[in-house]
Amino acid sequence: MSHSPLRCLVSGIQHFSPCVGHGLRTTIFLAGCPLRCFWCCNPECRINRPVLVCNMEKCIGRHACGHCMDACPNSAIYSSKNVIRVARDRCRNCGACVSRCPSGALFMSGRSMSPEEIMEDVMKDKDYIMNGGGVTLSGGEPMMHPQESAEILRLAHSLGLHTAMETCGFFDLDAPAAIAALQETDLLFFDIKHSDPLIHRRGTGVDNSRILCNFERISVEFPHLELHSRTLIVPGFNDDDATMRNIARIVKRTGSFLHILEVYSGICQDKYAQLGMPFSQFPASLAQGRMEAIMDIFQEEGLSVELH
Ligand code: SF4
Ligand code: SF4
Repeated sequence: MSHSPLRCLVSGIQHFSPCVGHGLRTTIFLAGCPLRCFWCCNPECRINRPVLVCNMEKCIGRHACGHCMDACPNSAIYSSKNVIRVARDRCRNCGACVSRCPSGALFMSGRSMSPEEIMEDVMKDKDYIMNGGGVTLSGGEPMMHPQESAEILRLAHSLGLHTAMETCGFFDLDAPAAIAALQETDLLFFDIKHSDPLIHRRGTGVDNSRILCNFERISVEFPHLELHSRTLIVPGFNDDDATMRNIARIVKRTGSFLHILEVYSGICQDKYAQLGMPFSQFPASLAQGRMEAIMDIFQEEGLSVELH
């Protein structure tokens, strides 16, 4: 393939991702997101630049190694009782320590790839993703990079792949690149996190007016799309009856009949520690029987529910 000048910051490419009804897929995670959901399980995808990740379980110790301390030009790495630590206020995420780390304890969260390089990696899986599966663009928020996303999806289509995208819905739907990306998308997973603008802002950093407007517009303006609305149930944030019923009614207004519910798993605290980011604590599980009650609400509103 000839390479375009576009570059994407890729947090990861996940092989063999199952997707209900849409086969085995390869998922591309692009870094960068305009939201700051307090429960986010992919904090490495939030920032649109490479960030130093420290998995100290892999470190062989300052006495046995310590190369990272010598390599850092900003004196950001020190040791305390033979345990390596990074002073995040001094770290410039330059990556100099990574190339000196023999154990893989230090690495950068993203790597720059062209859309063609991404697709070359994806096509290593062609034997199974071309057989009822496909490629899924995720993040972060893929539509934070509409031009790059459009090109990745266009290449995937040109190779005969089914394409899906996961979006938080917060993007400029009138931007030509966003329209191009949606035209190259076969299946869109669209997150509706809360029905109330103020609570949405408190939980994610932005209010939901643009998101809900985009949801309704996409359902009308992109009729070729298989549009699946989706809500992650976050205990204490959106699991009350009124919110669930409001979300069900928002979905129903678009003529959709299917809504996907997911339950927050609360297993991402380690990622925050490795990135040096603070993590908000909240209940890790729903009250007994709550999920069934939520599903009942959606069904009472005439929607089918898939629980993922
Ligand atoms: S990424 Fe650069 S600044 Fe940060 S700790 Fe490593 S060498 Fe130092
Ligand atoms: S270079 Fe890697 S293995 Fe060596 S002390 Fe630093 S973090 Fe540990």
